[in-house]
Amino acid sequence: MTVNVEMVKCGCADCVCIVTPGKAVEAEGRSFCSDSCAQHHADGDGCEHAGCACHG
Ligand SMILES: [Zn+2]
Ligand SMILES: [Zn+2]
Ligand SMILES: [Zn+2]
Repeated sequence: MTVNVEMVKCGCADCVCIVTPGKAVEAEGRSFCSDSCAQHHADGDGCEHAGCACHG
């Protein structure tokens, strides 16, 4: 049995999260783990993942 799940790091440079296609937020041709990252933290919000310090 083959497990073929592509794992891609979030497009946000400061984000350490790994996103899976299908769950990712697509923006600018990249995959992001959350809307906050996709919008470059325009609202100053971090992503909702514990342990991730990205806030843009
Ligand atoms: Zn994150
Ligand atoms: Zn992210
Ligand atoms: Zn981020």
